[in-house]
Amino acid sequence: MNHKSTILIVDDLLSAREVLRGLLTGQGYNLAFASNGAEALAKATQLIPDLILLDAMMPGMNGFEVCERLRADPLLAEVSVIMVTALDDPDSRLRGIEAGVDDFITKPYNRVELQARIRIITRLNHQRRLHLLELQAERDRTQAILEALGEAVVVTDATGIIQYVNPAAETLTGFTLAEAQGQSWRLWQSEETTAHLYDEILEKVQAGQLWQGEVVNKRKDKQLYDAALTVAPLFSPNSPGRSPVPPSQPVSIVSVQRDITPLKKAEQAKNEFVSNVSHELRTPLSVITLISDNLDTHYERLEDSKRRKMIRDIQKHTQVLNELIGDVLEISRIDSQRISMERDLVDLYHLLQIEVSEILPLARQKSHTLQASDGEPINVLGHQAQLRQVIRNLLTNAIKYTPDGGQINCACKIISLSTPEIDQKQVANWPERDNLPGGLWAALRVVDTGIGISQEHLPRLFNRFYRIKTQHKIRGTGLGLAIAQKLMELHGGYIAVASTLDKGSTFALYLPLLENE
Ligand code: ADP
Repeated sequence: MNHKSTILIVDDLLSAREVLRGLLTGQGYNLAFASNGAEALAKATQLIPDLILLDAMMPGMNGFEVCERLRADPLLAEVSVIMVTALDDPDSRLRGIEAGVDDFITKPYNRVELQARIRIITRLNHQRRLHLLELQAERDRTQAILEALGEAVVVTDATGIIQYVNPAAETLTGFTLAEAQGQSWRLWQSEETTAHLYDEILEKVQAGQLWQGEVVNKRKDKQLYDAALTVAPLFSPNSPGRSPVPPSQPVSIVSVQRDITPLKKAEQAKNEFVSNVSHELRTPLSVITLISDNLDTHYERLEDSKRRKMIRDIQKHTQVLNELIGDVLEISRIDSQRISMERDLVDLYHLLQIEVSEILPLARQKSHTLQASDGEPINVLGHQAQLRQVIRNLLTNAIKYTPDGGQINCACKIISLSTPEIDQKQVANWPERDNLPGGLWAALRVVDTGIGISQEHLPRLFNRFYRIKTQHKIRGTGLGLAIAQKLMELHGGYIAVASTLDKGSTFALYLPLLENE
């Protein structure tokens, strides 16, 4: 920013220009010169000076005409003009005032007086210019805030014609500022909102009130999105007396949209989850109710063995309820991030060994052979209890979904994710082929000779409550794999499955090796 005031000196005579140069040099001004009217206008447009010293009498375009033209140009209308006239020339003064001249000086100059008057004018102008610059800076700041805002801001005139959209609004709606400008704000109205809604909003805001609510809008690519919308009137900053618009009527309208599509989706998922949970809870509960009612009603008439069987069934279904509640609590803990994110150095191979030995009795009940092949410590950063839970889920499933006398083999080793032995079609949270992370990974596999899973089920296997229909005789909640996947995600790892129907399944866990970190 140049703090010096700029003075444009206009005179057709070189000698006259030089006199003024002599008087004003060294006073802290930028001086510019023009020798005729046309040049004066050109320089004035280019420099926007604080002050023009304008000779009245010039050949061609004279000083009066120059001044009239200056006043007609919005950019130059406010520039101070001092007209230089001959002594005792009242006619010129009158013409000059009509042309818009601010002040007059006469030749020959009184040096002290000239310098003083110029100093006063330029100082006043300077204040005004600084004020303008401040306003401009303020506008820039507001602009910067609008540009940085994550929420979509749209400014329209009082009738809803778009004047400005910030970058967040461009991103949200898909329309660029240039595309949106001049269009109606109904640009993104979708068929999902009632036809009158926008009219109602406009009416309310034009009456000076705020409107807040949720709408379904449409992007340029026709995709719908949910938005929390606030629409507010903006009133003229001018003093009401001078404003052409009555103070109670807005001059423009500002609307702020927040994309709540993810929120809505989460809400929907939660509702589905709740209804799923209630459904799953109701099934074992109604069985328990039924059996215990029967037991109560027919107790005396039932044989001992029958009664015992019914009690066992009640126990079995109570157990299912218990597991279900445990899993639901676990998954909601993960969802609400009320789960420990503490990470310690853990040896994955060691965890596998512990879990295998703890679950061995269960495998023996079904006459399975269950073993972990020899291995070495493999260190990863993780939460011991959570990783054990994931391993336990895989082992329990392998035992459950393998007919008696099967074989379950587990192994733990260090691999790279891009090795060809890993089937890239594996599902769950598996990265895209091009996005496979590098480095070395700890891999844990559980291989069973069980009933297997057909390809059609694989993509949904890790969804909450997803269970394969034909296996409903086998007890389960359908949450085990969903929990396992979430826990692996929280560990920066992956879970994957490969399976052949009637042959068996391989579930695998991948965790970044400590050396990678
Ligand atoms: P749950 O076992 O409680 O039903 P999971 O989330 O652990 O729930 O598993 C989801 C479904 O995936 C199971 O219902 C079953 O159909 C299938 N599944 C899981 N593990 C295996 C496996 N090792 N062999 C065959 N099917 C499996």
